[in-house]
Amino acid sequence: MPGEPIIIKGKKKSGFLDKVKELLPEGGNLNLCLTCGACSSGCPATGLEDMDPRKFLRMAALGMDKEILSTPWVWMCTMCQRCIYVCPMQIDISQLVYNARAAWPREERPKGILGSCDMALRNDSCSAMGTSEEDFKFVVEDVLEEYQEAQPEFKDMEAPIDKQGAEFFLNQNSREPVTEPDELVPLWKILHLAGVDWTYGNKGWAAENYCMFLADDQAWEHITRITAKQADDLGCKIFLNTE
Ligand code: SF4
Ligand code: SF4
Repeated sequence: MPGEPIIIKGKKKSGFLDKVKELLPEGGNLNLCLTCGACSSGCPATGLEDMDPRKFLRMAALGMDKEILSTPWVWMCTMCQRCIYVCPMQIDISQLVYNARAAWPREERPKGILGSCDMALRNDSCSAMGTSEEDFKFVVEDVLEEYQEAQPEFKDMEAPIDKQGAEFFLNQNSREPVTEPDELVPLWKILHLAGVDWTYGNKGWAAENYCMFLADDQAWEHITRITAKQADDLGCKIFLNTE
C-alpha cells in the first residue's frame, strides 16, 4: 500500500543480505548505507510498487527477507547502476536486486523476459527474437545490396559476416534485422567512412542478452560464451557490443 509504514517486530537477521554480501567483493559495501537517499533520487524505478533503492536496502538490512524476495519491484529495476554511481559509499544495490530476482522460481519470472531468454537459447544466433543465422544473413545481404545500388557513394560499403581476421567483432540488436532493417545501415556507413575492418558473426550476432535480466546465470553464460567464442574463432581483436 502506498505510504504504508514499515513495522519492525523485534530484531531480525537478514539471511538474504548476508548471502549476497558473501558473493560480492568487499561485500558490495552493503552495510555502509548513510541513508542519504541519493540513490533513490536518480533511480528510474523510484516510486514504482511503493519502493525505491534506499528503501529496498533498508528493508534487506532489517531482515525483511520475505518482502524483499517477493516484491515485483525487482523486475522494474533497469540494472542501469545509476545508484552505485551516485552513492557516496559505492553500495552495489543492483547486485542486491539481481540476487533477489535469482531467488524467484524461474517459471514465475516475468513472461516477456523469460520468453526472450528462452528464445535466445533456441539457436546459436542468440537472438531474443529467435531469428536464425540464415535469416540474418539474408537480411544483411539484401539490405546491403539495396543501399549499394541506391547510393553510389556507398557502392563499396561492406557488411561482412564471419570475416576471418577482422579487427572488430560487431553484434547487433535483433530487433533491427527483424523489424527495422534500414536501421542497420547508419552504423555500417560510419564504419565504412571511418575505414574500420569489422565483421558480424554467423553465430552470436545478436547483441541483447535477456538471460542476464532474467538473472539466469547459466543461460547468460551460455549465450556470452557462444558470442565470445565466435569472436575468438574469427581472430577479432576488439568486441564491439552495441547494446
Ligand atoms: S546513495 Fe548509498 S548511502 Fe545514500 S541511501 Fe543510497 S545506498 Fe545509502
Ligand atoms: S540499477 Fe536499479 S535500483 Fe539502481 S538506479 Fe538503476 S533502476 Fe534504480
